[in-house]
Amino acid sequence: MDAKLWASRAVIRTSGFRNSDGAAVVLASHLGRPKGGPDPKLSLKPVAERMGALLARPVPLAPDCVGEATRAQAHALKSGEVLLLENLRFHPEEEKNDDGFARQLAELADCYVNDAFAAAHRAHASIEAITHHLQPAAAGLLMQQELSALGRILESPARPLVAVLGGAKVSDKVALVEHLIGKVDALVIGGGMAFTFVRALGHAVGRSLVEPDRIETARAALEAARRRGVQLTLPVDAIVADGLDSPSGRAVGIREIPEAQMGLDIGPRTIERFGAVLATAKTIVWNGPMGVFEKPPFATGTAAIARAVAGAPAFSVIGGDGIAAVNAAGVSDKIGYISTAGGAFLEFLEGRTLPGVAALTEAA
Ligand code: AMP
Repeated sequence: MDAKLWASRAVIRTSGFRNSDGAAVVLASHLGRPKGGPDPKLSLKPVAERMGALLARPVPLAPDCVGEATRAQAHALKSGEVLLLENLRFHPEEEKNDDGFARQLAELADCYVNDAFAAAHRAHASIEAITHHLQPAAAGLLMQQELSALGRILESPARPLVAVLGGAKVSDKVALVEHLIGKVDALVIGGGMAFTFVRALGHAVGRSLVEPDRIETARAALEAARRRGVQLTLPVDAIVADGLDSPSGRAVGIREIPEAQMGLDIGPRTIERFGAVLATAKTIVWNGPMGVFEKPPFATGTAAIARAVAGAPAFSVIGGDGIAAVNAAGVSDKIGYISTAGGAFLEFLEGRTLPGVAALTEAA
């Protein structure tokens, strides 16, 4: 194959795969959130060096992702050579899905591969608009793996299917909770978001994180779960402390949180209860920590759930902060699939069409 290949946020395995076919590969990615122009701190130079080491061949960095010099460099590539473009987000047109910018990117190559599932929920120029100018537009190997693992959750999961949700806010996960209630057999809710549900049941939770304007939503979700026969499990105890910086906490029943304290992790009885639900699962999807896991006194619950997910006789898929937790617990090799995505993972599980997936016309 003599064609140059356009890879948006490609991973090494896809580029290596294509490379063995003899294609010249133009790689592109974004890094961070540059404010509307080039920022040396967000250059992809270290990425070029690391990729060069992984691929065992030079990976030069283009001066930009568009423009005459970059185009000349891309067009001069010979079979088997790789070129990394400079940070796509140095141009505000990238995030605006600008058609003219996408056309310039498209001029660099003869076909397109998107391997950036983690960015697929964004309609950005290198993800969506480019496919109007560069065909075929194919899914890379990682993209395919992500779609197949996450698709397995929504389409034909081995049952019981159990979802574990945590993290700070109900408001970020309302759509997810609503969609999952129509799909899962059991839903386990921990983390800060659980306190809004506990409030919806009428209990005081001290100074724990609560979103007052979501109490009604939480109540509706509890009701929907009951109607559909979905087992919804909430914390029965919590580790409470005066604040995030407290050196330690203590376990109290979920209805006994002192007025001046806040729940910062799930307690031991909750760990046991959540663990029992997970032990019955054949498929598990997990997103969001069970407590303020960045602080060691409040990381126990998240670590315990990581071990319970890993130990369950189930196909498990995790995304978001769960990844750090399974790594810290040393159990990542026992997880069925660890997603590279945060926002895209959630949007996919909400049942939404991701623009970066809808734009693709072919599997890799
Ligand atoms: P999210 O991005 O929604 O998954 O939320 C992750 C954040 O939720 C982490 O930074 C945790 O520290 C935070 N979090 C988890 N549990 C609690 C809690 N009980 N109280 C306050 N923050 C929490």
